[in-house]
Amino acid sequence: MRILVTGGAGFIGSALVRHLIANSDHEVLNFDKLTYAGTLTSLATVSSSPRYRFKQGDICDERAVAAAIEDFQPDVITHLAAESHVDRSIDGPGAFVQTNIVGTYTLLAKALDYWRQLNEVRQKAFRFHHISTDEVFGSLGETGYFTETTPYDPRSPYSASKASSDHLVSAWGHTFGLPVLVTNCSNNYGPYHFPEKLIPLMIVKALAGEPLPVYGAGSNVRDWLFVGDHVRALQCVFEKGTPGQTYNVGGNSERRNIDVVHAVCEILDRLERRADGKSYSEQIVHVADRPGHDQRYAIDATKIENELKWKPVETFESGIEKTVDWYLNNRQWWAEILERTEAAKRRGLSG
Ligand code: NAD
Repeated sequence: MRILVTGGAGFIGSALVRHLIANSDHEVLNFDKLTYAGTLTSLATVSSSPRYRFKQGDICDERAVAAAIEDFQPDVITHLAAESHVDRSIDGPGAFVQTNIVGTYTLLAKALDYWRQLNEVRQKAFRFHHISTDEVFGSLGETGYFTETTPYDPRSPYSASKASSDHLVSAWGHTFGLPVLVTNCSNNYGPYHFPEKLIPLMIVKALAGEPLPVYGAGSNVRDWLFVGDHVRALQCVFEKGTPGQTYNVGGNSERRNIDVVHAVCEILDRLERRADGKSYSEQIVHVADRPGHDQRYAIDATKIENELKWKPVETFESGIEKTVDWYLNNRQWWAEILERTEAAKRRGLSG
């Protein structure tokens, strides 16, 4: 099949592209604006494949989107392009409304124009797969899980913009008959993760000898999903999922943030001990909590496990070990990003 991936230079998108090129015969077009979060070096291992191409473009630019779709003639559009960092959505929500809502609308509108002129066989086989988050469901107390029928209750500008895009996708399915799929996943982690997110941030700060800032008491709970498990789930969903359905994807790995940071420190202590022999955990500092910080997210992934026979293969312990090890062995990848964001800050642009 011909798979158009939006946001393929980001963390999950690049993992999906690498996975599809390595493990399938699909052809891939990566359509990505290359915002601060897009990194083409994440695609170095696939860039010379004849089944991979890249087009720089903005999903809000309807002419660029229409041209990319017309030119590539996709069987599937997997939509990952987004502004994805909750803290940035608090500082500047406008970009989230623009890309996550208006951009998703633009992509849907152009996908529908394209789909309408396909023959009946290709129309039936076509899929528009939207990648979303469990954050649209709000915050859990100590017990319970998010299922596909949990009511939406987004709390941050980021999750509100993702909820909005989920509803648009659903409307294009119900109203216009576009064969849509939505997946809502929990917090991903793994190699090639932009070093502003919790796990890579802790690794690079620890190695730099800097304080490791943990929001509040660090008691917030996330259900950690290894990115390699997630991209296998995405492939299952666009190949075998039922149009009009949504699927929750989780890692069965609930951990408090503070325990995640301690786990990172313990692995670093083992693999690259501090020069003074002390533990990296001595660098942990507690900082003022994020406004509106959701307490707990946890996914019930029974539906995708039963219907599509997917389940995560990594435990949190195996996944975090692989992740820390990758950051230690791929310093150039993240050092370049840190340099680029520092340079942007010096020029007065947001980093
Ligand atoms: P990311 O921030 O690492 O990557 C986003 C990519 O989208 C970047 O390559 C960026 O250049 C591109 N992009 C941004 N705006 C664009 C635009 N207007 N036009 C074209 N490209 C644009 O994000 P990620 O962590 O890989 O997340 C991918 C998707 O998965 C997002 O939709 C996100 O909401 C969702 N998601 C992520 C997580 C997670 O833990 N990372 C969890 C749940 C859901």
